[in-house]
Amino acid sequence: MSLRNSTLFLDVRLVKLVQYIRDRFGKPITVNDWMNGGTFINSGFRSPLCDVGAHFSQHKFGRAADLKLDGITPEEVRRDIIANFNLYREKTAITTIEAQTPTWLHVDVRFTNMEHLLIVNP
Ligand SMILES: [Zn+2]
Repeated sequence: MSLRNSTLFLDVRLVKLVQYIRDRFGKPITVNDWMNGGTFINSGFRSPLCDVGAHFSQHKFGRAADLKLDGITPEEVRRDIIANFNLYREKTAITTIEAQTPTWLHVDVRFTNMEHLLIVNP
C-alpha cells in the first residue's frame, strides 16, 4: 500500500478537530505537504516503522497532527485552545496538545479519561 493511501489510517475525530480549528481561525492549515513538493513529511500519520518521534507517538495511531496555520503562530492557537477548552471539548474530541513547539502545534485525540486538557512536552 502506498503512503498516498495513509488517510485510511487517520482517526476521523482528528480530521474533524483540524477542520474545526481551520474554520475557527479562518486560515488554511498545513499538516503534510510533501505531495506538493513541500518538506513536511511526518506531521500527520506516521508509519509504525517511522523512527521520528516517540515509539508510541499518537501520530502512529492516526490520532495526531502538527499544524501550521497561515499567519497565526502556534502560540496563538495554543492559547485559544487553553482558554476555550470547554468549547473545544464540546465541538471536538481534542484531549492533548504539546507545549512550546516553536513552528507548529501538535494536537491529538488520544484517550486520556480526563476532564482537563493534557499538555505534554514534545
Ligand atoms: Zn506531533
